[in-house]
Amino acid sequence: MFYCGNVQESFQTYLDRMLRVREGLESRSIGAALITPGPDLAYLTGYEAVPLERLTCLVLQPHFEPILVVPLLEEAAARVSPFGAHGLPIITWSEVDDPFSIVASHLNGPSVVAVDDHMWASKVLSFRSVLRGADQVLAGTVISPLRMRKSDYEIDCLREAAAAIDRVHALVPAMLRIGRTEREVGQEIARAIISEGHIRVDFTIVASGPNGASPHHEVSDRVLTAGDPIVVDIGGTMPSGYRSDCTRTYVLGSASPEYREHYDALLEAQIAGVNSVRPGVPCEEIDRVPRALLDAHGIGKYFIHRTGHGIGLETHEDPYMVEGNDMVLEAGMAFSVEPGFYIPNQFGARIEDIVVCGTDGPIVLNHQPRELIQVEV
Ligand code: ZN
Ligand code: ZN
Ligand code: ZN
Repeated sequence: MFYCGNVQESFQTYLDRMLRVREGLESRSIGAALITPGPDLAYLTGYEAVPLERLTCLVLQPHFEPILVVPLLEEAAARVSPFGAHGLPIITWSEVDDPFSIVASHLNGPSVVAVDDHMWASKVLSFRSVLRGADQVLAGTVISPLRMRKSDYEIDCLREAAAAIDRVHALVPAMLRIGRTEREVGQEIARAIISEGHIRVDFTIVASGPNGASPHHEVSDRVLTAGDPIVVDIGGTMPSGYRSDCTRTYVLGSASPEYREHYDALLEAQIAGVNSVRPGVPCEEIDRVPRALLDAHGIGKYFIHRTGHGIGLETHEDPYMVEGNDMVLEAGMAFSVEPGFYIPNQFGARIEDIVVCGTDGPIVLNHQPRELIQVEV
């Protein structure tokens, strides 16, 4: 069950979301959407099921009530989810039944079906064989536009997640000591992610010295050394199901003048990126602004990833702040702004905040200092 503070998403919200998907299917002439466990199922029903080999599937059709097909042994769990608790129909299958045929028997011979973007390939192919002649398209084309535009409740969830990861970052300087390994620091961070309110650790990147040049380096047995810059990018999942993701860069002792100079340019670029967030601005512009500043400083070629990604029930989701994405920002969209520089065999740096597009500008959810954080040795 999902909670933000002690508030739950209302059942009416789930009904509204399922209705909007059904309307989206109808307007695109798609006969049904088949949604398996994952973020879309959680978003639409409040049912957080673990993806397993047995089929659990929400069936949405334009003119029929939603149904949830679950294995018999999952029935009790489905009944206490918002979907089941409010009396929506749950159909069970036993170990000897073919659940794909059961789903097909509830459809009206659709010529197009939308499958969950996260559905396992084995299930996609099973549906293909029981729904012969039906074209398969991605359900994300209908669901993603809804998930991208966060409600006030969802923004509260992201704010709560950001505050929790901020508290973890506040503890990080005391964890960084000469002689410890990245792995030891990562394990201590993981414990803090949980103790500060998350229910799950999603990732702990502790990238020291030259490891900082690999943006998704996790941890290694490298020992922290005086003068190391250390990129710490961490995130987890809250009881609400919403995610945190925040990067700060630390230095053990003092950084070289060259590093400090690059970092100042990065800080300026990140702030400019955040400040260009407002409704009507294309996503690619949020990528261009920091990139242009890093280019002007001569380190643009070391900024080797997009500037940001949407965040919500997944850490990476639409919309993406990347060249070529001309979708315009709308109030309620939530995403990271995280430029960095990665100089092979030397060092790296990144600054990442989660930002919500407000009606007249950015609402920054993370509040720990963005400046290079010098740890006394
Ligand atoms: Zn990432
Ligand atoms: Zn991150
Ligand atoms: Zn991120």
